Amino acid sequence: MSPEPRPAGQPDVLVAGGGIGGLGAALALSRQGLRVRVLEQAAAFGEVGAGLQIAPNCTRILAEYGLLEEAKSLGVVPENIVMRDALDGRELSRLDLRDLERRYGFPYMVMHRSDLHGVLLRACERAGVQLLTDRTVTGYENTADGALVRLADGTTEQAPLVVAADGLHSAARLGLVGDDVVSSDYVAYRAAVPIEQVRGNDIAEKDVTVHIGPHCHFVQYALRGGEMFNQVAVFRSPKALAGRDDWGTPDELDAAFERTCDTVRDGIPLMWRDRWWQMLDRDPIDTWVHGRVALLGDAAHPPLQYMAQGAIMAIEDGWVLAKQYAAHAAAAASGAGPDWDAALAEYEAVRVEHCRRVQTTARAWGELWHLDGDDRLRRNAILTARDTHDYSFTDWVYGPTALTPDEEPPMFTPIPLASVGAAHVAAEVSRA
Ligand SMILES: Cc1cc2nc3c(=O)[nH]c(=O)nc-3n(C[C@H](O)[C@H](O)[C@H](O)COP(=O)(O)OP(=O)(O)OC[C@H]3O[C@@H](n4cnc5c(N)ncnc54)[C@H](O)[C@@H]3O)c2cc1C
Repeated sequence: MSPEPRPAGQPDVLVAGGGIGGLGAALALSRQGLRVRVLEQAAAFGEVGAGLQIAPNCTRILAEYGLLEEAKSLGVVPENIVMRDALDGRELSRLDLRDLERRYGFPYMVMHRSDLHGVLLRACERAGVQLLTDRTVTGYENTADGALVRLADGTTEQAPLVVAADGLHSAARLGLVGDDVVSSDYVAYRAAVPIEQVRGNDIAEKDVTVHIGPHCHFVQYALRGGEMFNQVAVFRSPKALAGRDDWGTPDELDAAFERTCDTVRDGIPLMWRDRWWQMLDRDPIDTWVHGRVALLGDAAHPPLQYMAQGAIMAIEDGWVLAKQYAAHAAAAASGAGPDWDAALAEYEAVRVEHCRRVQTTARAWGELWHLDGDDRLRRNAILTARDTHDYSFTDWVYGPTALTPDEEPPMFTPIPLASVGAAHVAAEVSRA
């Protein structure tokens, strides 16, 4: 397939932002024979943070790109996801990840986010993607035959398509949509430490463990072939609730986990205290495509991270965009150029509803995980009764439907807490 002829040196696609979403899109589009240029504001390509969970809906794509084995060699394939009550440590629910792999055909893995970013960066280099740093994109405009970006240094660049993958605080989103981020009043602390530092903490090295508790949760899993251990501590900030700007500070971290079980409390002193991530998302929007400027990744659909799907959705976006380009590029062969408008319309048609569902479900998960009092006990009763092999909560997200236009309409039904009877609650109270 041959894209429309461009003057030598001119890209077919400009990608603003070289995070996981931008690089994923650049790789996917360059695999279709397009010349792609990535404009990254930072002085070097890289990622800040710790671990990422990579579910089968993403390892499926990494496999297609020929990157799964490299990713696996840098990460860990855990055995289970185990959900525990953060106060008493009791197991509430479990996903058998070996069975999950059989069901979806691809593994559930965890890896350091800089390792995944590195895998994509090296693949982009091999594919001939032009990777430019120190390029801050400040403005977007449509032109007669594509779109133009303005850079902070006063220069402009043009291409038939511009992909805005500039993250949660996207300048493109501000200019094209103009909405604000939404604060959840929760904050995340992260840490990735040598595994030896936590071996005495009653950890489960082969599992992803999620301890859910009143207004807090704590996630643990091993990284880098089991040499490192990743922890994420998330809690509701009293300072945020009081309307203060300086919220989520380390004193709040310690206070938030005071009531939790030993395994969680033992992990808290290891959290990095020099930076933290306020948990922000945005309300879902219907329009990601503005002429020849397409929002992608967190710029289009930043979620709260409770489903661990943010980076995955960004990679899926790039895969779908490239597939839709391929489906509508036939015109290129006849000299008319690819039908970008049709490809972009399909990109929206496939992705918007799925990502809306992830964003709204993540918010609902957050509410469920952070319940207190009798509602916590009702929730525990429901989760404990769940069959390990019940995949009704994962089929729509880990299966391939997010990548096709045939997805069923979203039908998220929150767990009916009120339907859990008093007898269940009484049983839970007696166990607590
Ligand atoms: C605590 C936490 C845990 C998470 N866990 C998971 C998980 O387990 N699994 C998962 O899938 N996701 C997870 N996520 C979400 C995931 O990190 C994000 O959804 C993902 O990184 C979004 O990728 P992106 O490329 O769209 O945006 P970003 O990663 O924000 O990348 C944007 C890039 O654009 C650049 N940029 C910004 N503005 C400009 C500009 N004006 N000009 C040029 N460049 C610009 C930035 O420097 C950056 O490189 C987690 C997030 C958090 C906070």
